[in-house]
Amino acid sequence: MKIHEYQAKALLSEFSIPIPTGAVATTPAEAKNIAAELGGKVVIKAQVYAGGRGKAGGIKVAKTPEEAEKLAGQILGTRLITHQTTPEGVPVGKVLVEKAVNIERELYLSIIVAAANHMPVMMASEAGGMDIEEVARVSPEKILLEYIDRAAGFQAFQGRKLAYGMNLNPAQVRAGTSLMTNLYRLFQVKDCSLAEINPLVVTADGEIMALDAKLNFDDNALFRHSDIEQLHDAEQEDPLEARANELGIKNYVKMDGNIGCLVNGAGLAMAVMDIITHAGGRPANFLDIGTVNDVSRVVNAFKIFTTDPSVKAILVNIFGGMARVDTIARGIAEAHKQMDINLPLVVRLAGTNADEGKSILAESGIEFIEATDFYDAAYKAVQAAKGSYK
Ligand code: GDP
Ligand code: MN
Repeated sequence: MKIHEYQAKALLSEFSIPIPTGAVATTPAEAKNIAAELGGKVVIKAQVYAGGRGKAGGIKVAKTPEEAEKLAGQILGTRLITHQTTPEGVPVGKVLVEKAVNIERELYLSIIVAAANHMPVMMASEAGGMDIEEVARVSPEKILLEYIDRAAGFQAFQGRKLAYGMNLNPAQVRAGTSLMTNLYRLFQVKDCSLAEINPLVVTADGEIMALDAKLNFDDNALFRHSDIEQLHDAEQEDPLEARANELGIKNYVKMDGNIGCLVNGAGLAMAVMDIITHAGGRPANFLDIGTVNDVSRVVNAFKIFTTDPSVKAILVNIFGGMARVDTIARGIAEAHKQMDINLPLVVRLAGTNADEGKSILAESGIEFIEATDFYDAAYKAVQAAKGSYK
């Protein structure tokens, strides 16, 4: 799960990491008031779940409260398109208004869990700012790494190594090391999957401070962080993905094709997407109802299909295990009872209680195209989406 920069900065501050003074505004008038209170130059920052705002016009400097009001008005209510967003961009509902900082140097600092050995790794670089991806590509040696032993925790000597490596002076090394220690503590206590400060700046006064902040959280650990879970901003997500989340379908990803897929198990879902492509079509989504034996989950999946105008055919490919086929079949029948579904439906049922499932579907009176195996199902779905079956 992602959160906004202003929320991430509040957490950094809770963990004693210096951040600029500021507050969040939802209207231009609020931005003006905050700017007046801060005094002097302020920075207006679009709050979206995406980076690359600087280059996309989402970060602006205002010299007066009136200018802050005007600039906030230009950003609020628009959609910001950055290299990290879809072409439609993400809505800007809030701006962060902060006292402008005199930047001496822009550094980079982050923690992720390394894929290779599952250890948290602290990454630091003197080449911080807006182009860290470019640095990683062109001169990876400029990014310093320290792997963190989970039992021992982040060690002061590791902090000193990274801090000296970024060419900080001795006083800054002390501040930098304690900042890193605090960032790791936050990362661990809050079950983050990513903690990134880019840029971490050295100010003209020689202080070290987080000018930007990005925190992502491990979804599987959210149950023990209700304070974080409630920070979630559904507006920032694809509306269908947000709806799927609300309906309890955790594994839903919107895609660009026209075949709505209802599948159980992520492996089967991926195989179905591959085979649809192989049969000459494109999936409209990745949807895994999971290993649940639950009629309403199936009904909810159909609710998603009927809300998505790009879906032209539905493919149900179920291999019953813990989720029994008869339950899925009841779900399909129930969905057609509750909603007026006019999409061609291709069904392939196998596994636990498959025969029972098939007779439930047959008795329900729903029109559907039966498929015998995997490829048959994909082929028929592709034809159905083209209108060849209806
Ligand atoms: P991102 O582009 O989405 O990563 O947004 P950032 O918060 O990292 O801001 C991008 C850039 O704007 C930074 O690298 C800075 O160069 C600049 N910037 C942001 N805040 C300030 C500030 O308070 N003062 C100055 N001088 N520049 C700032
Ligand atoms: Mn940044």
